[in-house]
Amino acid sequence: MVFARLLGVLLLLLTAVPSHAALPSPAPGKLTVYFLDVGQGDATLIVSPTGKTVLIDGGPPEAGKRLAARLRELVKQPLDLVILTHPHLDHLGGLPAALKAVGAKRFMDPGFDHPSEAYRDLLDFVGREVGQVMNPEPNPNAPQTLLTIGLGEGVALTVLWPRVPQEPFLEDTRSDPNANSIVTKLTYGKTAFLFTGDAEPPTEEVLVQKPLDLTATVLKVAHHGGKHSSTRAFLERVKPSVAVISCGVGNDYGHPTPEALGRLRDVGARTFRTDQDGEVMAVSDGTTVTLRTTRAEASPTVVTGTQKAGSPVALGPIEPTPQRQGDRAVEKEPDPGAPRTKPSKEPSREPAPTSPSSPSEPGDTGQRFESLKGSKVFHREDCPTLKRSKNERTVYSRRADALRERRPAEDCHP
Ligand SMILES: [Zn+2]
Ligand SMILES: [Zn+2]
Repeated sequence: MVFARLLGVLLLLLTAVPSHAALPSPAPGKLTVYFLDVGQGDATLIVSPTGKTVLIDGGPPEAGKRLAARLRELVKQPLDLVILTHPHLDHLGGLPAALKAVGAKRFMDPGFDHPSEAYRDLLDFVGREVGQVMNPEPNPNAPQTLLTIGLGEGVALTVLWPRVPQEPFLEDTRSDPNANSIVTKLTYGKTAFLFTGDAEPPTEEVLVQKPLDLTATVLKVAHHGGKHSSTRAFLERVKPSVAVISCGVGNDYGHPTPEALGRLRDVGARTFRTDQDGEVMAVSDGTTVTLRTTRAEASPTVVTGTQKAGSPVALGPIEPTPQRQGDRAVEKEPDPGAPRTKPSKEPSREPAPTSPSSPSEPGDTGQRFESLKGSKVFHREDCPTLKRSKNERTVYSRRADALRERRPAEDCHP
């Protein structure tokens, strides 16, 4: 008995690592968000109170091994959903290793085409290994509604951007892949998290103009704290109590920038940084969020959520966003994930957006649909699943009779 007690004390001593404390496993019945330390890149794991898991981004290639090992500790079943916010290497590079390690049931990306080899390889891999590939498209039968993914116990993950085909992708920005990052809001009771990928000022502007509740208890800061993103107008709408910046120690980009840090300070956000704090874990019980980091000496930070009940996010009628010429800086900032060569505009996966003034018939977007030979299901012409199949395809227009005899595919919601 005495021996056992001594052993217990010894184990306790051994586990109390002084400099780098391991963060606990997700607590059942709570919402846990891990901002994983992947160096210069992003990777966030959401574990819902019922154990549903969502991985947002997978860090750079060099973080793949570490990410895979950490996910093995935290995730016991294949991930329910993997979101790639945008096809840059510092967000997708570690995903193949992560997916090999724990598996995934669904994969979502903005559907914004990008010519990099790493992205092509990832899509091939996902096509082979992940059951379902989807774009964050609003339900065509209720285009005003935002796409929301229920994670159990009232936890909801809502996609705020992009909204193709209801609204076209943002173009002619400093970085179009960044500007069309998947932006999501995770709500649980009075608490909320906003994940912004590498959103650019035009993304923030589009969101600010919408009748959306952008407030969030915890903000995953856009573009690693780059100086252009996290505009004052956006932060004043988000009103984050806590801001988390994912970036590498001594990175070449100067992330996070004093400009972004200053604006976060101005709105009263307490800032965490993965380069200084290591992994950041945020646990919500629906009322408060408790944050811990792998920096052992830091005591937990507790913040109270202020979400209004019943109105996590709502979207009224969508007005076409006016394209203000000359309003957008053309200066391009180097991006960790940007390809070295100039990206050629390839035919993109999204349907051609109809301009509000186009005289086309209502309902006819000029979009076409395809079925695989012998299949009772039809897909959007640009569906990644179709692209991967070697089978013969048949093409239909929106109003073809043959389309009515077939049901829409679940991966691309044509
Ligand atoms: Zn990026
Ligand atoms: Zn990035």
